[in-house]
Amino acid sequence: MKEFDYVIIGGGCAGLSLAYELEIHEKLKNKTLAIIEPREEYKRDKTWSFWKVIPHNFDDCVKKSWENFSINIPGKTNYLECKNFPYQSVDSGLFYKKINNRIKENKNISFFRDISEINTKNSFIFNSVTETKKNHLNLWQHFCGVEIKTENNFFDEEIFNLMDFDCEQRESVHFFYTLPYSKNKALIETTWLSKMNDNSQKDYDNQIKEYIEKHLKIKNYEITYKEEGAIPLFYPLYKKEKNKINIGTAGGMTRLSTGYTFLNIQEHSKYLRENIENISTLKKFEINRKYQFLDDIFLRVLNKNPGKMSNIFFSMFNTSPKTVIKFLSNKSNFFEDLKIILQMPKLTFIKALFY
Ligand SMILES: Cc1cc2nc3c(=O)[nH]c(=O)nc-3n(C[C@H](O)[C@H](O)[C@H](O)COP(=O)(O)OP(=O)(O)OC[C@H]3O[C@@H](n4cnc5c(N)ncnc54)[C@H](O)[C@@H]3O)c2cc1C
Repeated sequence: MKEFDYVIIGGGCAGLSLAYELEIHEKLKNKTLAIIEPREEYKRDKTWSFWKVIPHNFDDCVKKSWENFSINIPGKTNYLECKNFPYQSVDSGLFYKKINNRIKENKNISFFRDISEINTKNSFIFNSVTETKKNHLNLWQHFCGVEIKTENNFFDEEIFNLMDFDCEQRESVHFFYTLPYSKNKALIETTWLSKMNDNSQKDYDNQIKEYIEKHLKIKNYEITYKEEGAIPLFYPLYKKEKNKINIGTAGGMTRLSTGYTFLNIQEHSKYLRENIENISTLKKFEINRKYQFLDDIFLRVLNKNPGKMSNIFFSMFNTSPKTVIKFLSNKSNFFEDLKIILQMPKLTFIKALFY
């Protein structure tokens, strides 16, 4: 069986981001790489959005970028600006195409459907596949989104809606998220933060239909694309293994309070590429411990007080949007952290520290 210097298990966001990063920095000129990916074909299956707080390799895969956003709870809307850190939406279809077109030029890179097809005994492995065991205590961000095309112009494409809490909460945390790509096209998502043990939350199609037709009052529209997912709001169990590094969601790249993962994956890929010559002794890359600590408290509050969360999210944005964006994107300094903490209901958070 064939052997490779490097093996990437899972050719999804993290696997392909890493392969691309290594390829464009010529780290695969004299090294071989196998990518293990079972999917039959690559097609658009996700929309990765984030505030652009750092440069990345995929500006040409951005479907749309915004400099304004809103957040609302029943009866109140906050309009905010994000000129310093525009919110970008990467189309996974364009991302897969760009990377695959580039890496297929390199004869040192091969794709396999299953790990059993190669010999990995002497390879360094980057793994993006984890088995998350269902645990009824774990929180998830689960969602479903549809892209719609309306008959008449309806949307203001200059401003996206980050969170609309003006909807049924069902003793949980629920909001809608709308990304208007043009005046008559938008991605509309229903999102829940919950333990996923209430099946009624998964009637996503009905929720979206009701939101579009009754809340937004759009009558004539067509659904052109659909995506669904569940992001674990807990870290995967990390077992240190020789010659293996976990990447992507499996590598703990998700920010637990928000589900944002894409830019962390890009930073991790860069870190791995910069240190590829010393990969077997490399220090683990992780989301700064202060965010891990703060997110842990935040999720404890969410667990105990789902009914308070819409107001908590809303009041977080009472401070400058730049500060909140930096905080949510792991780029805030001590004073910015403090500004966010001061917006939070003190007693609720202090109690959460002791549960
Ligand atoms: C629908 C959706 C939308 C999201 N939107 C955002 C967003 O807007 N912003 C953001 O920051 N994050 C977002 N995320 C979170 C995160 O960015 C994505 O989940 C991202 O794809 C994680 O990358 P990954 O490589 O860890 O996993 P994946 O991209 O899922 O890649 C894992 C790969 O492993 C393959 N695989 C599975 N089993 C095996 C096996 N046994 N052997 C080999 N390969 C296998 C899969 O086919 C897949 O290609 C979203 C997640 C989902 C599901």
